[in-house]
Amino acid sequence: MAVTHLFRQVVRKSAVGVPFHRRYGKFQLSPSLKERLRVFESLREKRGKKGVAEKPLSIQLADGRTVKGTAGVSTPLVVAQSLRLKGALVSRVNGELWELERPLEADCELQLLGFDTVEGKQAAWRTGACVLSGVLEGVFGSEVCRVGASEFGLYCDHVLNNSHFSLSEVEEKCREAAALRLPFFRLELNSEELGELFQDSKLRLQLVEEEMSGSSVTVYRCGDSVSVCRGPLLPHTGFLKVFRMLQLSPITLANQTESSGLTRLMGVAFPAERDREEWEREQEAARRRDHRRIGMDQELFFFNEVSPGSCFFLPKGAHIYNTLMEFIKSEYRRRGFSEVVTPTLFSTALWERSGHWEHYGKNMFTVTSEGSLTHALKPMNCPAHCLMFEHRVRSWRELPLRWADFGALHRNELSGALGGLTRVRRFCQDDAHIFCAPEQLEEEIVACLDFVRSVYRVFGFSFHCLLSTRPTPCLGDPEQWDDAEQQLENSLQQFGEHWELNPGDGAFYGPKIDILIKDAIGRQHQCATIQLDFQLPIRFDLQYLGRDGRKHRPVMIHRAVLGSLERMIAILAENFGGKWPLWLSPAQISVIPVGGSSESYGRQVAQQFCEAGFVVDLDVDPGATLNKKIRSAQLAQYNYIFVVGDKECESGTVSVRSRAGKQLGRRPTEEVLRSLQHLRNCRSNLDEF
Ligand SMILES: [Zn+2]
Repeated sequence: MAVTHLFRQVVRKSAVGVPFHRRYGKFQLSPSLKERLRVFESLREKRGKKGVAEKPLSIQLADGRTVKGTAGVSTPLVVAQSLRLKGALVSRVNGELWELERPLEADCELQLLGFDTVEGKQAAWRTGACVLSGVLEGVFGSEVCRVGASEFGLYCDHVLNNSHFSLSEVEEKCREAAALRLPFFRLELNSEELGELFQDSKLRLQLVEEEMSGSSVTVYRCGDSVSVCRGPLLPHTGFLKVFRMLQLSPITLANQTESSGLTRLMGVAFPAERDREEWEREQEAARRRDHRRIGMDQELFFFNEVSPGSCFFLPKGAHIYNTLMEFIKSEYRRRGFSEVVTPTLFSTALWERSGHWEHYGKNMFTVTSEGSLTHALKPMNCPAHCLMFEHRVRSWRELPLRWADFGALHRNELSGALGGLTRVRRFCQDDAHIFCAPEQLEEEIVACLDFVRSVYRVFGFSFHCLLSTRPTPCLGDPEQWDDAEQQLENSLQQFGEHWELNPGDGAFYGPKIDILIKDAIGRQHQCATIQLDFQLPIRFDLQYLGRDGRKHRPVMIHRAVLGSLERMIAILAENFGGKWPLWLSPAQISVIPVGGSSESYGRQVAQQFCEAGFVVDLDVDPGATLNKKIRSAQLAQYNYIFVVGDKECESGTVSVRSRAGKQLGRRPTEEVLRSLQHLRNCRSNLDEF
């Protein structure tokens, strides 16, 4: 019996006895679905079997062991089973992600990846999304248009044709379907074949085409369901044992204001119950650290529907914002950057010249003034800096020019995509552009990388770099690309930190280095970027007079360390779990006088620290006990609590407690002041001194 039929049969069988069982009968394979499966099978037949000549090969494992195998026969799964290694979901063969049942082709290094790795989790969730797609189509009669996995889980975008379901019902059906151990069949299709396969679904085709980056896509058949899915997937559905559906939400498509009728069902899937438990624990920890929650609890910021995606920073949030900016400004002064201030509103003529109007126009907010003149709010600073460069004749003696700009930027993100500080419409970057001679590139890049390293050290982030090289198609002459990529590589070598090549992922106007950070809870973020640009200098016809008296074209580097300040504040809030280090903290010291007579001494101490630039609050609430005051100061995350009574007053001291509750003893006020100034000035993460 074909597996496809088996799937429907079991689903129908399991429906017996549940109140909805009669409905399942309705979802016999529709003629269009039958046709889709026929097309898939005929394409599969056409491809035939690609065999690899059988010959011995040797496989080197991550732990250093080497095992023997046969090309075209041995698979990572067989290797894992023969070594009794449990929990593998996907593998890496010579650095390339590789499905467990795909035969090995030559001598290789093999790495087995489980659910505790990003790759393993993603493969599990992509597989879960395919299972879900089959259930929604086969059991609930939905039209599925898109499936996939994000860092948060799996999803399935579908149009529900007049049927209803509960999330727990879907979970149950997914579990049953997965237990059938349905295998996956994979095909690479070009867009013509894809059109034939999904001829009955315009919306699906449109979504696939929007996401198509190369000339082909991968589709998988699982049971009666065919999904476009990047892969790699697990060997069969039986690798997944637990499903949790999280939420249903309507989707607004780009360029569409009306509802598309498309709904996203989000969920997660696990190979075992203990993986689900571990995930639940992580979720709870993340909820506690959620920057939106910290922002509310500590009164840092809020949003209001009168300006979606634009943050209101309250005094404490503004303190963090300004302190971060001051940190970067102090680095600018040391590193030869000069700050500039540029307009927010520009005529569309500028955006046409820079090319943004053509490529980015739909993400820009426009403003009409004086009748028909159209202006747009800047989504980036680069064109303004090009105008500054061409403002007068430039000489080689001035280069490199390093211009930094904290101007407010606006990008028209869909309101549905906005969330907290991570997706906003109004933001500010620690943006800078470097205009330099081509031969200065290497040195400038090393300096940029060093800048990034010294800032991330302060935050305690570990990081690694990705060098993204030319995509196809790209603009500019190949020699220039060769040269620039070589210089970036030299810079990375000289820099000496871990880096990887990311071939083909550069922008069409130049190669770049992305810096990926890892925060305290192991999450990865990309904030800093160093991007070369050969095109803007051409579009603006930027030139400088060289040493030889001739005109030369400068190279432009776009770079940011924090990226958007808004997003960095979110990352830092979650990284520190709301326990800000002293230098960044919006609540540094709480002074608590004990007894009425020490109040004036307390006031004097508070004044002294305030004058030294600390954020100090004096707690003179007569209604609360000392213990209660200490407790509430700890909850409010004050870094230090100074308790002052008669003894402290007489001896010019303060009794210091750290935020963690540690008593640091009674110490001379002057000494404490000097110690805290030192901790703050060197941006230390230490609590004790
Ligand atoms: Zn730029």
